[in-house]
Amino acid sequence: MIVVKVGGSSGIDYDAVCRDLAGRWKAGERFVLVHGGSGETNRVAEALGHPPKFVTSPSGYTSRFTDRATLEIFEMVYCGKMNKGIVERLQRLGVNAVGLSGLDGRIFEGKHKDSVRSVEGGKVKVLRGDHTGTVEKVNTGLIELLLGAGYLPVLTPPAASYEGVAINVDGDRAAAALAVALKAEALLLLSNVPGLLRAYPDESSLIREIPAGDVEAYLDFAQDRMKKKVLGAAEAVAGGVGRVVFGDARAGEPVSAALAGQGTVVS
Ligand code: ADP
Repeated sequence: MIVVKVGGSSGIDYDAVCRDLAGRWKAGERFVLVHGGSGETNRVAEALGHPPKFVTSPSGYTSRFTDRATLEIFEMVYCGKMNKGIVERLQRLGVNAVGLSGLDGRIFEGKHKDSVRSVEGGKVKVLRGDHTGTVEKVNTGLIELLLGAGYLPVLTPPAASYEGVAINVDGDRAAAALAVALKAEALLLLSNVPGLLRAYPDESSLIREIPAGDVEAYLDFAQDRMKKKVLGAAEAVAGGVGRVVFGDARAGEPVSAALAGQGTVVS
């Protein structure tokens, strides 16, 4: 079992990812696909007159401030356009994919965080009305049911809070929690970069290998949202996943390339 997470930033070739995945699925390999949608969500939010608001926490993590209107736009794009676009691609390729969010069957569960601390102009502000959280629990029953019946699950945030409220969660860390819960042999985090770069954006500075026990030491190389991937990788290997690969999803055969060790391999 391999968990593949494909991001939502510009440049990702979803056709290439689905083609590669479909070929391997038909040859008998089992996958669960998790996807993002941040780039498209930003575009749609602008178009709807509710531009995205990003906050940076005092510890340096950037996240989307998700008020109720943002959550609804987020769901339109992640659960609607992105999820159904991927399911349609896989169906065209002859793979019986089923698209679900973390709310469905409470696949992803976590604590609702209503307020967030944001550094603005050198000062720390507390913003309320946030619909975010972190996946703390993965309920694998529905996934196992689908895999057992021959369906390829295609999953996306949001998650369900313990009270059943939709919460925006980081897709990389959700995929890491899923990989741990499913005892996956590998987790592939595919995005629009060749892997973790020592000197972003210089692509020749690719870090090829990270020893499993050392992942957190590499957090310093990652800026912004890449930090969440490094954190997700650390959580996955600590939870028993044998290998995490940060791979390139811009062209070619992104899944096969990552499995062959191209990108940054954490093991
Ligand atoms: P996705 O939505 O595709 O999962 P993110 O946008 O969350 O991807 O994270 C990937 C982005 O992280 C890259 O597009 C890049 O701009 C940024 N990044 C920051 N630091 C690094 C780094 N050291 N190496 C690679 N990418 C980095």
